[in-house]
Amino acid sequence: MKMTNKRAQKRASAKASTTNVSKFAPAKAVAGGKSAVKFEYAPSLESTDIVQIEKRNRLFIGGKFVEPTSGRYFPTINPATGERLAEVAEANEKDVDLAVKTARQAYEQIWSKMSGKERGRYLFRIARLIQERARELAVLETMDNGKPIRESRDIDVPLVAAHFFYHAGWADKLEYAFPGQSIAPLGVVGQVIPWNFPLLMAAWKIAPALACGNTVVLKPAETTSLSALLLAQIFQDAGLPEGVVNIVTGAGATGAALVNHPDINKVAFTGSTEVGKIIARAVAGTKKRLTLELGGKSAHIIFEDAALDQALEGVINGIYFNQGHVCCAGSRLLLEESIANDFVEKLKKRIAQLRVGNPLDKNTDIGAINSEAELKKIGKLIQLGKDEGGEFFEPKCALPEKGYFQRPCFFSNVSSSFTLSRVEIFGPVLAVSTFRTAQEAVVKANDTPYGLAAGVWSEKGAKIHKVAGQLKAGVVWANTYNKFDPSAPFGGYNESGWGREGGRHGLSAYLDVRGK
Ligand code: NAP
Ligand code: MG
Repeated sequence: MKMTNKRAQKRASAKASTTNVSKFAPAKAVAGGKSAVKFEYAPSLESTDIVQIEKRNRLFIGGKFVEPTSGRYFPTINPATGERLAEVAEANEKDVDLAVKTARQAYEQIWSKMSGKERGRYLFRIARLIQERARELAVLETMDNGKPIRESRDIDVPLVAAHFFYHAGWADKLEYAFPGQSIAPLGVVGQVIPWNFPLLMAAWKIAPALACGNTVVLKPAETTSLSALLLAQIFQDAGLPEGVVNIVTGAGATGAALVNHPDINKVAFTGSTEVGKIIARAVAGTKKRLTLELGGKSAHIIFEDAALDQALEGVINGIYFNQGHVCCAGSRLLLEESIANDFVEKLKKRIAQLRVGNPLDKNTDIGAINSEAELKKIGKLIQLGKDEGGEFFEPKCALPEKGYFQRPCFFSNVSSSFTLSRVEIFGPVLAVSTFRTAQEAVVKANDTPYGLAAGVWSEKGAKIHKVAGQLKAGVVWANTYNKFDPSAPFGGYNESGWGREGGRHGLSAYLDVRGK
């Protein structure tokens, strides 16, 4: 079939804008001195035509898009190009106050009086509209965040819809979740979320809050507000009563104004441990309820009897896909000594095959780092790892000339005292060390201020159960990694947070549950 001119032009510009050289012949990729075969694919760019981005994006208060009182807007950047995508309104204390008052009114007059069945209907409608507009949401998310379209299309957006469906189902069955107890919504909830999963974090926060009968004021991250504002359009289309969800965009000061507002009943925060501590201090001594989902430094433990190729893919999925921008990223790799050398060689070959480049290309494995500041932070931590004496490896793949990109890399022969074994890097950087006994593996995995997740890889079920039971991590995956489901509670130990999101545990965080 002959291509139309327009399609031919698109293919040509796709070719020019991707880093993956468009040859079908296998090319040599250098890995650890040996060569591995890397098949090059023709570029396959997702079209952005489906997305209409407003030049100026206003606040969403009382079911309408409204100007910020200050009249101030800030730019949001496409991290894959470094170019400005749009401007977003900056909400100040007055705007936050208006949003909270609006949410209070909607709570008292409408949402708290509505039956669970009716609330559920709105949530089902929202879930279906998310599915209908899935492609648009995925493309916008990739443009504003930098994550590969494969991730936003196949993981984030389907999970967003799943969260609304799941909680829609609970809305009229809450009494069965807490049998023999009396339950009541909390009131107005202030929610602050980060940039790594902008839509998914919005869904994790909004869906359970509404199902339980609360109203919401949400503050998205400064660098990734656009998909939350598209979600606001979906709320309008679903006919969600005005004021039930309000979205105030802005930076940290907007988040602080929301957290400190005297008329909210609960704060739900996902973000860094540093800001989580500030929020915990701000909420202490008030009657506000608080849940915190914070950082992590999660470990894979790979035993010699594991299916090693499968484990390798789990490691790749856990830290490199999505640029390591995952709170539960498997950023530490603990290898049983007998297999360590072979596994590290396999890892070198495999990461040399990963494709770093345009996140809108369907072949891309590793997209753009979300902001220049994050890229600089990752670079500094890599340098520190080298200075501390870690053995560094990165493949020699080309990076796009524009935008914020980082090659996948790892440090081997790293000890638990290295900075890169302890701090969250939030980039595609892995710290590899070894162990001799299961007990040593557990001690090393638990030797962290965090405790969000872990992965255990072994053929022996009994060994997996024994080790998993000793790990101080909110989620332990066995022979897999980074698998999510709205019915499974998620959350951390120690500095990884307080409380759980998802499942019945997640519902209790949005309800006042008392014995009858
Ligand atoms: P962050 O800097 O803590 O920011 C998170 C959110 O808090 C943003 O909306 C931010 O606004 C806002 N904020 C900043 N200062 C604030 C203050 N004083 N009061 C109230 N809000 C404030 O985190 P991030 O860098 O965006 O996100 C990465 C972190 O999130 C990582 O540590 C990651 O592990 C964690 N995370 C955890 C989970 C989990 O479920 N445990 C999930 C995803 C991410 P700005 O946009 O202006 O910064
Ligand atoms: Mg952006």
